[in-house]
Parts: sequence; C-alpha cells; structure tokens
Amino acid sequence: MVKLTIDNQEVETEEGSTILDAASKTGIYIPTLCYHESLSSSGSCRLCSVEVITNGASHLTTACTYPVEEGLEVRTNSQEVIETRKLVMELLLAQHPHSDAIQKLARKLGVGKPTFILKEEECVLCELCVRACREIVGVNAISFIAQGIGRDIDKPSVEISLTKCIGCDSCAYICPTEAITVEDVGDTRIINAPSGKMEFKLKRCNTCGNYWAPEKQLDYIIEKAGLASDAFGNCPDCRD
Ligand code: SF4
Repeated sequence: MVKLTIDNQEVETEEGSTILDAASKTGIYIPTLCYHESLSSSGSCRLCSVEVITNGASHLTTACTYPVEEGLEVRTNSQEVIETRKLVMELLLAQHPHSDAIQKLARKLGVGKPTFILKEEECVLCELCVRACREIVGVNAISFIAQGIGRDIDKPSVEISLTKCIGCDSCAYICPTEAITVEDVGDTRIINAPSGKMEFKLKRCNTCGNYWAPEKQLDYIIEKAGLASDAFGNCPDCRD
C-alpha cells in the first residue's frame, strides 16, 4: 500500500493506482472527459489536472495518468488547478458548444459563455473511440490524424479504416460528444464518423426475420471464438 496526501487528507491506496483512483476512493471529485475505467488512460483532455508537490517543487499533471507515490502531496483545488481546468473547459466549450456532455461539465465547473471564438467541431480528440476499438473490440480500426502545427483544420481528426471496421458501434457508444453516431435503417447499419459515412449489411434472424447485427461483426466473432459458421442464425431474442 502507498500513503499520500490529497487536499491535506491522508489517503492509503494500492500501489500502481493513479491519483484519480485514490481521489475517487476518498470521495474527492476530479472532473474527467477522456477517462473510462475500462480503458487505458491518455490524459488528453487535461480536465483532471491536479497539482503535485514532490521534493518541495510543485507542478501540474493529469490525475488519470499519474501513479501514486509514497509521501506524494496532491492538491485538487488550488487556485492554479481551478484556473487551469476552467481554461481547458472554456476551450472545450468554445469548440463544442452544442455537446450536452461538455455543457454539463462546464456548468459543474462554473464556466459560462466562452470568451474565445474557435472553429466548432464535434470531435474533442479524447481518443475514447480509438482506445475502445483497440482495447475492447480488438480491431484497431481508428486512427488520429496528426495534430498540432501544420494540421489542416478542414480535414477530419479521426479516420476509420473501412477494411478493418466491423460496424460494432462501440466507438459511437463511448463517444461523449456524438462525433460518431450509428443508426440501423432496414437491413443496413450506418456509422457516421468525422471521416465519412460507412455502411454495413445487417444479418437477418432465421426465426423472427428482424435485422439485428452487422454480418461483418458476426463473422469476426465466429473467427475469433472458433464458432461454427451458422452460430448466429438467430437473434438473441430467438435463441434457445
Ligand atoms: S464500429 Fe468500427 S471503428 Fe467503431 S469500434 Fe467498432 S470496429 Fe472500431
């Protein structure tokens, strides 16, 4: 076990956990957007910024990526932390003013109308879709187009490989701002992503006749799990 202090409160937590884990265990709220407990952490949104003091020196870091250390002192509510989070939030709100998730977080952090004027986008570059596709689905179909100086801002930030994608919809499910959406229309699943629209043929249930899952996704599961090729003749409702 590791002992550290968060906001002057002594906390004991498991080795290998992060400041975010330790804080939530203690009931201390740290805002997050790009974090999901089932995925690796990226720290890309920077909303979980906290101040850490090591050897008398203080610096800002992201709570979701910083591992706990014996004797570490953490401040989650210093003036610097509050101002940093508000600035990050204001930038996010300026770029994604119509997102429910962003608006909700902004209200929670006391951020009102942004003073910045930025090009509106749906993708917040949180990478949740990339990590979900790679770490949970195991397909790795999504990649980010290089960010930073020199990036063409008219080009989409996320690219999905149609060859690799199986149409499972995990990316749409986890996206906090609906930058990726999914809809099933008749026998077709349509995935709308910043890089364009993709269509997948849905499998029809042998019993009820409903279309229920992309054929490509079912073929992927059959191959991965070594199942019989007719394993998914029926939808879940019509299975024995
Ligand atoms: S729909 Fe495609 S890109 Fe999205 S998680 Fe599934 S396989 Fe990955």
